[in-house]
Amino acid sequence: MSKPKITIVGSINMDLITVTDQVAAAGETVSGTHFETLFGGKGANQAIAASRLGADVSMISKVGDDAFGAEMIKNFEDNGVVTDGIAVEEKTPSGIANIIVSDKDNRIIIIAGANGQVDKAHVDNYTSVIKNSDMVLLQFEIPMNTIRHTLDICRKEEIPVIINPAPVTELEREYFEAATYITPNEHERAQLFKMREDGLPEYYEKLITTQGAQGASYFNDGREILIPPKNVDVVDTTGAGDTFNAAFAVAIAEGRTVEEAIYFANDAAGLAVRKLGAQSGMPMREEM
Ligand code: ATP
Repeated sequence: MSKPKITIVGSINMDLITVTDQVAAAGETVSGTHFETLFGGKGANQAIAASRLGADVSMISKVGDDAFGAEMIKNFEDNGVVTDGIAVEEKTPSGIANIIVSDKDNRIIIIAGANGQVDKAHVDNYTSVIKNSDMVLLQFEIPMNTIRHTLDICRKEEIPVIINPAPVTELEREYFEAATYITPNEHERAQLFKMREDGLPEYYEKLITTQGAQGASYFNDGREILIPPKNVDVVDTTGAGDTFNAAFAVAIAEGRTVEEAIYFANDAAGLAVRKLGAQSGMPMREEM
């Protein structure tokens, strides 16, 4: 079987993780316990996961002209992702997520940096890549006008597209209509899709809802069917959703049914949650 071609138009971040017992109040300085940098960003995570699962993956995005940008491009290359569609934006920082992990809660500040410069003109430079894709995968961490524009191209060229509507952002209904599948988690679904009078959510035919440890669901003849994951030893669920989305896209692009694709995606995400960090646990195809 030839490898499916998957294109991701999305974000690339460096996650800067500070672990601390005490969170500094305004004007205060405290000592933390641990710091590390990990590759992240929903677009990047999904690209790396899809590539490890055996797809031909192209990433369309931007990084800044800083050390993080160079490291993040190298990470894609090391994972076999085609980086021709990643531009280095001058005088702009790379996207980062500043994550403070304490006993009580996590505090996350995202700076879009170069992700905020992924504009329509940049996507237009790679229309031929999109046209040659078996599947396009989108998330909401780049400007929404770029998402709309990419959906217009997919609709015109009849390219299947999955919208992973995270983080929650409103999008006009006509664009959701352009999607082949929509993959919210339970919270995103509750916020974005109203219940219709017949008790089914809007776009139920397209909805694949991830439900954490419960697995993921789809609708068959108007009935919601939940497919549970296998039992796994969970270490860190960061990136579980990204691995699920990538694996679901790969399986659908390979011609599997929705049910088969959810089993495959549950298995891939179940392997990913056994290790710390979004990308470190993402499985290779041979491990599946
Ligand atoms: P995140 O934002 O942490 O990446 P998410 O909220 O987008 O995650 P979830 O619904 O939490 O997505 O999880 C996605 C998928 O990962 C689930 O559908 C399931 O397959 C798998 N998964 C998540 N948590 C667990 C768990 N505790 N045990 C087994 N599988 C899990």
